Amino acid sequence: MDRTTKSKRLLKRSLEEITVKVDAYFEKIEAKYGSHRVAKYPCPHCQGEIKALRPEETGEVWDSMVQCNLCGKLHFKVIDK
Ligand SMILES: [Zn+2]
Repeated sequence: MDRTTKSKRLLKRSLEEITVKVDAYFEKIEAKYGSHRVAKYPCPHCQGEIKALRPEETGEVWDSMVQCNLCGKLHFKVIDK
């Protein structure tokens, strides 16, 4: 197996492990605060569903550089209530 194939497999396995943790985290958030606190949007690269915590206060805006837990590519996210 060449190095590129091996590193792609390691990244895929790592992303799968992170996705399990992300799903568990957002299940707890939805149970505790309600589904309105969880924003869902398509990844601009793979179109997979990404979840993010939504601000509680109207007018509050959160931004960050994000790595998709499904494809591993980066994008910039801006979320408001
Ligand atoms: Zn993606």
